[in-house]
Amino acid sequence: MARKVLVLGEVRDGALRNVSFEAIAAGKTVAEGGEVVAVLAGEAVQSFGQELIHYGADRVVTVEDAKLAAYTPDGYSQALLAVIEQEKPEGIVFGHTALGKDLSPKLAARLGSGLISDATSLEEAGGNLVFTRPIYSGKAFEKKIVTDGVIFATIRPNNIAPLAKDESRSGDVTSVSVEIKDLRTIVKDVVRKATQGVDLSEAKVIIAGGRGVKSEDGFKPLQELADVLGGAVGASRGACDADYCDYSLQIGQTGKVVTPDLYIACGISGAIQHLAGMSNSKVIVAINKDPEANIFKVADYGIVGDLFEVIPMLTEEFKKLNV
Ligand code: FAD
Repeated sequence: MARKVLVLGEVRDGALRNVSFEAIAAGKTVAEGGEVVAVLAGEAVQSFGQELIHYGADRVVTVEDAKLAAYTPDGYSQALLAVIEQEKPEGIVFGHTALGKDLSPKLAARLGSGLISDATSLEEAGGNLVFTRPIYSGKAFEKKIVTDGVIFATIRPNNIAPLAKDESRSGDVTSVSVEIKDLRTIVKDVVRKATQGVDLSEAKVIIAGGRGVKSEDGFKPLQELADVLGGAVGASRGACDADYCDYSLQIGQTGKVVTPDLYIACGISGAIQHLAGMSNSKVIVAINKDPEANIFKVADYGIVGDLFEVIPMLTEEFKKLNV
């Protein structure tokens, strides 16, 4: 059954976030041959419209207002509700990002629809659209269908592949004029935590350290390897709790969920709470002194050895390959 589907595009630091393209790909599946309309809300977002079309959106609708320069649930829900009222979609897809997680339940409640949050895949089966989502911190998966009303879902970043970019695609980018009423909360300032290098949640290569790294200095060889591979450094909670690194690096159940192409776990035992955040990585390499360490059960390649000997060797070899 062909449906009209609305997909939210997210702009951060002057660029569209990759999850916007993933949401379009998911939106295509939900649309089942119907129209996919991408929405952009912000202060000056019109210029990003064509890129969303290149990634598969049929049309783009923008809502521009200075009050939307920073995300507020109040401002964005006014903008999105106006677009939903105009477009009357039968499906809505957001990224399961900080913004998507905050906004989607609010909108679903206003629309009186259900919400499938944090889907990692979706497929057509037996005449239904079946969404898969992890539960119990990734220990199990449940499959869900929507039986009534708008199909509203958020998708976990880095799980649904975007469509190939096609610069020959064209489509309309139109703006909707929405009167954004006075906001009840105003963002006065956004203070970013200083991080160096590649953004962990979008990194294609992650070198993660655990308690086996032993100290703050012990992270230096990991950072060198990450620099050579153009990747980011992450950590287990064990390393964060031991004060070897900042909690912003924590990966796992109570940290970030990542799905890079390559994940190198160094001195990490592989507790279930850590696996919840990284086991969907494409290729997992584990370096651990203990051959019985649980991390080897999820690893594609295991190196039993001292990370302080193995990592510098890997760094040297990758330098020679000039990757
Ligand atoms: P350890 O378990 O101490 O493992 C260290 C490993 O390093 C060992 O396997 C050891 O053999 C190896 N090693 C030591 N020296 C070397 C060396 N020189 N070379 C090579 N290997 C070496 N954890 C997370 O990571 N993320 C989470 O989000 C998270 N959330 C949690 C939520 C809850 C509610 C709870 C209860 C726990 C959570 N944890 C989380 C903690 C989790 O249970 C583990 O305690 C933690 O992941 C262990 O960290 P680790 O593997 O670095 O340390």
